[in-house]
Amino acid sequence: MTAVDLEFDQLNSTVDALRRSISNRMMYGVGKDAVTARPQDWLHAAALAVRDRLVARWMKTTRLQYEQDVKRVYYLSMEFLIGRTFTNALLALGIYDQMKEALSGLGVDMEALTDLEPDAALGNGGLGRLAACFLDSMATLGIPGFGYGIRYEYGMFRQQIVDGEQLETPDYWLRAGNPWEFPRPEVQYIVHFGGRTVQRDGHVEWIETQHVNAMAYDTVIPGFATSATNTLRLWSARATEELDLSAFNKGDYRRAVDAKNMSENVSRLLYPDDSTPAGRELRLRQEYFFVSATMQDLIRRYQRTHSTFGRFAEKVAVHLNDTHPVLAIPELMRLLVDVHHVPWAKAWKDIQQMFSYTNHTLMPEALETWDVETLARLLPRHLEIIFEINAEFLKHVSEHSGHDVDMIRRISLVDEYGQRRVRMAHLAIVASQKVNGVSKLHSQLMTRDIFSDFAKIWPERFTNVTNGVTPRRWLAQSSTSMSHLIDEQIGTHWRRDLFELGKLRDLRDDPSFIHAFHEAKRQNKLRLIQRLQQHTKMTFDPDALFDLQVKRIHEYKRQLLNVLHVIVRYNQIRANPEREWVPRVVMFAGKAASAYRMAKTIIKLIGDVSKAVNEDPIIGDKLKVVFVPNYGVSVAELIIPAADLSEQISMAGTEASGTGNMKLALNGALTIGTMDGANIEICDAVGRENIFIFGHTADQVDELRATGYRPREIYEHNPELKVALDQIRTGFFSPDDPLRFSDIFHTLVDWGDHYMVLADFAAFAKAQDEVDKRYLDRRSWTKSAIENVAGMGQFSSDRTIAEYARDIWKVKPLELE
Ligand SMILES: *Cc1c(COP(=O)(O)O)cnc(C)c1O
Repeated sequence: MTAVDLEFDQLNSTVDALRRSISNRMMYGVGKDAVTARPQDWLHAAALAVRDRLVARWMKTTRLQYEQDVKRVYYLSMEFLIGRTFTNALLALGIYDQMKEALSGLGVDMEALTDLEPDAALGNGGLGRLAACFLDSMATLGIPGFGYGIRYEYGMFRQQIVDGEQLETPDYWLRAGNPWEFPRPEVQYIVHFGGRTVQRDGHVEWIETQHVNAMAYDTVIPGFATSATNTLRLWSARATEELDLSAFNKGDYRRAVDAKNMSENVSRLLYPDDSTPAGRELRLRQEYFFVSATMQDLIRRYQRTHSTFGRFAEKVAVHLNDTHPVLAIPELMRLLVDVHHVPWAKAWKDIQQMFSYTNHTLMPEALETWDVETLARLLPRHLEIIFEINAEFLKHVSEHSGHDVDMIRRISLVDEYGQRRVRMAHLAIVASQKVNGVSKLHSQLMTRDIFSDFAKIWPERFTNVTNGVTPRRWLAQSSTSMSHLIDEQIGTHWRRDLFELGKLRDLRDDPSFIHAFHEAKRQNKLRLIQRLQQHTKMTFDPDALFDLQVKRIHEYKRQLLNVLHVIVRYNQIRANPEREWVPRVVMFAGKAASAYRMAKTIIKLIGDVSKAVNEDPIIGDKLKVVFVPNYGVSVAELIIPAADLSEQISMAGTEASGTGNMKLALNGALTIGTMDGANIEICDAVGRENIFIFGHTADQVDELRATGYRPREIYEHNPELKVALDQIRTGFFSPDDPLRFSDIFHTLVDWGDHYMVLADFAAFAKAQDEVDKRYLDRRSWTKSAIENVAGMGQFSSDRTIAEYARDIWKVKPLELE
């Protein structure tokens, strides 16, 4: 490379400079003038002006990383639920107000623009959002990290609610172009599938494969108030040959493009669920596609500054966000051993130092396995490598366990019961130097239950790192009213050190602060009401208690428990309308996986119940039920700051951590929740008197299951609950189709109630009565809300990432001078 000094404009961020940049970008980037520019064009031009200001930082970070020969973290995730970038980048750069003024000088309203930006919805829910919060924190802390994933053309489907039912439409988020990404056509790797293996000169070769190219697209991830940035590199599939020329020459145009389309399907869409059988093989291809390109990229980057693999394990950490990227393990073995001719033992030793794995679920049905036949067909070499790893591993275990055959069968990488399947979590554990759960409870149960055999062999390998959320997006960006109030009281540093919020505790008895806090919350409720009124004809009372359950619709999260309580309350109000009821707006939001019938029926039930409740003149403002459609990052940013009450009511032992619970508490909502996931740690942090805990604990759930759980008895002995369930069963809410919800009834009453909704119902209803009582005393409620915000320090993803960096990855922040 010849180093020519480029001369370019050093961009500053005064209002004038920004206005000029936007104008230049409109002219030379978008190719329009002020007369023809549509709002979308203004957004694009403004985004490019912001991106220009990130690039210098990005170059500097990359240069320093090479100079300091840092250890890099490769964070591999099938999902990155980033949401919008524009406002986030403005706040990171500290140019929000200047940009607003610059645009206003051009006759453009920035707030209207920001709403035009599509969400990058490259994820389903919590796991993908966690990855996005982690990117933000890694950049902010200066941890040299890269996110690696797939550039899906179609992200999470868009959800519309029509007649109370979920309707899915494709989310083609790239329609208007994506100003934040840099296509890197020069960074392409070939990814192979199929074929067979042969031995040649003492090495294995994988031959007669089909292939597809993986092309890189880079997005700059700005750190907050630092010049450090990180990179999110997403892979897009490109056919290795544009057209099948022989078919084309014979005039078969269809067939000529079919092959191209088939191979490019691999990055077409995000699977709407991580546990549906549909398209499983394509999903396996996706997993291999992105880890293969990533491992090739990682080796290339290492080799740019190192001539041997001697220091490989010192310079690279690879993190597996759940088991989806586990094929990175045999792929890296293959590349090292077969392609770079590193001895097997050295390669394996390196891998065991480099890899780490986060488990995200204890539910057996969600633990990923792949059948041996499919693997043999698609990835024959990788299956050989997995078998070899397994043989060594089982030999080791056998020697140390006194040949305990049952244990060996349980622990093997290959499940031999029935159709042989590879257990991806087992492969991840065997290859990783650290395995972590995502909350204290989850990590305990992980080593007690699903991975207990492994925890006995390698106790030092298992650890806990409780999840967190980024305060930049989930408070500073989503709630201007609240963050300004906090700034006035304790300064602005909480954005980088969330423990600063603890200082708010000193103000909890200050009447003027209590009043201002209440007003800030009210502002957020008014903002939400205004937006809801654009879409529904309903009106809402901002002084009503806003009760939110916003998360994926799933039986374990128990939206049904919430609905049952709504029905019981509805019946109570109708029976006794004169009593002083605390007005409530119960809001639900969340998507159901497209193949998950029960989850969709639950949405329909919410729709039918809300119709009955909202249209009943006796009820009026005492109770309203709303389903907010298309839950995603942007909807969450609007709705979460308006919450008074946060429903975190999963059956204990099922929610690994939750992060929605943290966002809501950070925004001053009080939690009603079970002793599950991170709720337990939230309870410790905010104090037992500032949270509503109810229901069976994880141990009590086990005990009840062991002694025989009989939900029908509960149904028969709780008259209010019985009425509600009978209404569901007999079509009270669905007179047009009386049997619509009979499966829900039977699931709860006759078919075992797997998630123990009925077992927790009475305790839940009692806790809800406590909520009402507390809400009547606004002062006391607001004090508790303040305690919640003040206690959230430890739930910043900065704390989480600092722990990963120190205990798992063993990386240090970049020195920025
Ligand atoms: C935080 C978040 C989630 C996770 O919510 P949980 O309540 O922890 O399940 C899911 N989706 C979006 C869009 C989020 O922002």
